[in-house]
Amino acid sequence: MDCIFCAIVNGDIPSKKVYEDKFCCAFLDINPQAPVHCLVIPKEHISSCNEINETNVSVVSHIFTTIPKIAKALNLTNGYRIISNVGEDACQSVKHLHFHILGGAKLTDKMG
Ligand code: 5GP
Ligand code: ZN
Repeated sequence: MDCIFCAIVNGDIPSKKVYEDKFCCAFLDINPQAPVHCLVIPKEHISSCNEINETNVSVVSHIFTTIPKIAKALNLTNGYRIISNVGEDACQSVKHLHFHILGGAKLTDKMG
């Protein structure tokens, strides 16, 4: 399967990793949209939030218990935003589940 984020997990495409464990990793977005912009992804390929199910949901809960640690490591002490784009209308461009972590400045209150 041709997946950029699977290639990043495998080390075939370089990335600036900020966190990694057995189940997930986080790396800086190549095209940052905030002073701090990283992506947190499961190591296993899940296409989007639409493909989360009873079998693979444990990695998602793991990610959500890990995000506060990643945010702390990135010094996002004043808050941050978590976004996951799903499908065409949300402009999801990489079909491997990922959570954008945005922060490092006051973000716009417009989310759409
Ligand atoms: P989406 O639009 O699917 O929600 O987000 C995909 C994100 O992946 C975009 O913010 C884009 O900048 C980022 N991205 C795409 N290709 C690469 C890459 O090769 N390396 C890194 N670090 N980020 C990437
Ligand atoms: Zn993948």
